[in-house]
Formats: sequence, structure tokens, C-alpha cells
Amino acid sequence: MSKVSPLVDSLIEAFQCLPGVGPKSAQRMALHLLERNKNAGLILANTLEAALENVEKCKECRIFTENDTCQICSNEKRNERLICVVESVSDVFAIEQSNQFNGHYFILHGHLSPIDDIGPDELALNNLFTKVKKGLVEEVILATGSTLEGETTSHFIFDNLKNVENLKLTKLARGVPLGGELEYVDRGTIMHALSDRQILKGDG
Ligand code: ZN
Repeated sequence: MSKVSPLVDSLIEAFQCLPGVGPKSAQRMALHLLERNKNAGLILANTLEAALENVEKCKECRIFTENDTCQICSNEKRNERLICVVESVSDVFAIEQSNQFNGHYFILHGHLSPIDDIGPDELALNNLFTKVKKGLVEEVILATGSTLEGETTSHFIFDNLKNVENLKLTKLARGVPLGGELEYVDRGTIMHALSDRQILKGDG
């Protein structure tokens, strides 16, 4: 039974799909838009719809884009022979803010997790392996999270690429919480983690 209006109830419920938003925050958001900011609410609704309908994954790196290939992959000034593998797009935002990286990315959108039925296919790892095995890549930087699942994913990628000739495999220096957490790391830490990256396999 609705207390005020079924539509207001639905709006409050809809906001709760967002992470960290419980019933109280959802109520505050819904009332704020209805009471004070209808225009911003409409812009939010339209932008949300346009983004959800048009944004897909880049066919090269799997970052979000409304084009076939993203702005990073299609930027000729960037080094396509250097690929940084991360778990989440928020990691890309954080690394980009450091201005320390001029290569391409490969976004896993998660990590290997047998309990959740997430295997290599769900992370599209074959796309990465195929590209690297074609000899188009000089270095792969493993920048997955430091959780058990992140480490397992990193090992799996290493195992699949360790025999590729002329490929260098590196890992970010320790101490950086990755895997969707990178956005909270300051610029200096990321710069340091990139410049001090650990060599797992040389290019010989
Ligand atoms: Zn891309």
C-alpha cells in the first residue's frame, strides 16, 4: 500500500539500484528532484537513457564508448604496443589522471571467480591473448587488484602469455589497491607504481 503515491514510491525504489543508496537516501533524492529540481531530473533521465542505450564496450579494449572503438584506442598519439590490463573502467580513470601512461588498456570488467561463474570467457581474455600472440604488443602491464581473485587473474594471464616471444610482462609496483579501488589512490602513488613496475618476464 502506497503511503503517498505509487509513482513516487516507484521512483524511490528505482534509486535504490545504485550502490550505497538505501531507502532513506533514495527518498531524499526523489523528493529533491520533485520538490526543487525537476529540470535537472529530466536531464538526468534523458542522459541516463541515452547512455544506457548507446554506450557499449570498445571492440579493442572493452572500455565504455558510444563508438566502435574508444577515444583511447583511436588516438594515434598513444602507444598501441603497450597494454595495461585492469579490472574496471574506474581504474582507467585513475591511471589517466596520473598522466603517466600513454599506452592502451584492456578492461576485464571483473576478475576470475569460479563461485560466481566468471571464467576467462566472461572477461573476454581470448581477445587479449589473440592480440598479443599476433605480435602486435611489446609489453603487457598486469594491473589487476591485489585481492586473491585479482592475483589469480593476473597469474592466469601470465601463464597464457609467458611463452610469447619478444613480449615483456610487468606488474604494477606493490602497495596500490587496484580492482575498482584505484580511484581513491593519489596521483603520486600511481605514478610511482607505474614507473617502478616489476618485470615478470623480459622481452627475450
Ligand atoms: Zn578502446
